[in-house]
Amino acid sequence: MQHTLKLILLSSVWLFSQSLFATPQIVASIAPVNALVAAVTAGVTTPTLLISPTASPHHYQLKPSEVHALSEADVIVWVGPDMETFLPKVLQNVSPHAAIVTLLTEPDVITLQTNHHVDPHIWLLPDNAKVIVRAVAESLCIHDAKNCDIYTKNAEEAIARIDVLDDSVREKLAPVKSVPYLVFHDAYRYFEAHYGLSNQGTITLSPERQVSAKHLVALQEKIAEDNIVCVFNEPQLQASVVEMLIKTTDVQEGELDPVGINITPDLKGYEQLLTGLANGFVNCLRLGK
Ligand SMILES: [Zn+2]
Repeated sequence: MQHTLKLILLSSVWLFSQSLFATPQIVASIAPVNALVAAVTAGVTTPTLLISPTASPHHYQLKPSEVHALSEADVIVWVGPDMETFLPKVLQNVSPHAAIVTLLTEPDVITLQTNHHVDPHIWLLPDNAKVIVRAVAESLCIHDAKNCDIYTKNAEEAIARIDVLDDSVREKLAPVKSVPYLVFHDAYRYFEAHYGLSNQGTITLSPERQVSAKHLVALQEKIAEDNIVCVFNEPQLQASVVEMLIKTTDVQEGELDPVGINITPDLKGYEQLLTGLANGFVNCLRLGK
């Protein structure tokens, strides 16, 4: 009897210390968000990336192991229901103690409207990346107060580096700003508006749907009329429709990766993502100069 009591006491002390001192389990939904979260948690812990960057987050089905990772998480960082459309249902079943950081509803996040929704590709604007690291640091400070100083310092360092990145991307893109192009799906509006690029249209209005023959004809006319120089494909969607569209023209096919297939899970990864996009634009658009 006494022995049992001792065991119960010991195990409750262990549980108590676990909840006080364990580093939080953090899950980040997509690669660019994961990179920004990891920038904040550097030196404390590493977040778990939910969705592989080779998949398009617009249409995705979680594997059982990924649902499990979510159920164990203390902090979950995602963009919002307009992006990870499959997540709201799953998030209803995670631990009631888990903090859920929904980036689209963060007060300082800058959002662009589309026809009926908010454009969810918010991470492609450096100003939003700065809001994201700040919001993540604040949430982690609540959840893991003992490491708050580290999170805050990391966030400040990240913000300074994002400013440097912003300047270098702007400089890189300046020579091709006015060269007209089409993109496969409308993922880059934040980036394009911020750097003043000349997007003339989008091949698919919703990445999960087939492009109609009628729309293709209209795009072919647009290519001729607007002197389109490049049509940009995406590694996540590998649209053969781009090849079909430019087959009979002298338009170049470029590639842009809005998620970052090869980025590392740290701030460098975010830098790779934006620099990669800038290079993708420049490599193709400079042919039209
Ligand atoms: Zn998208």
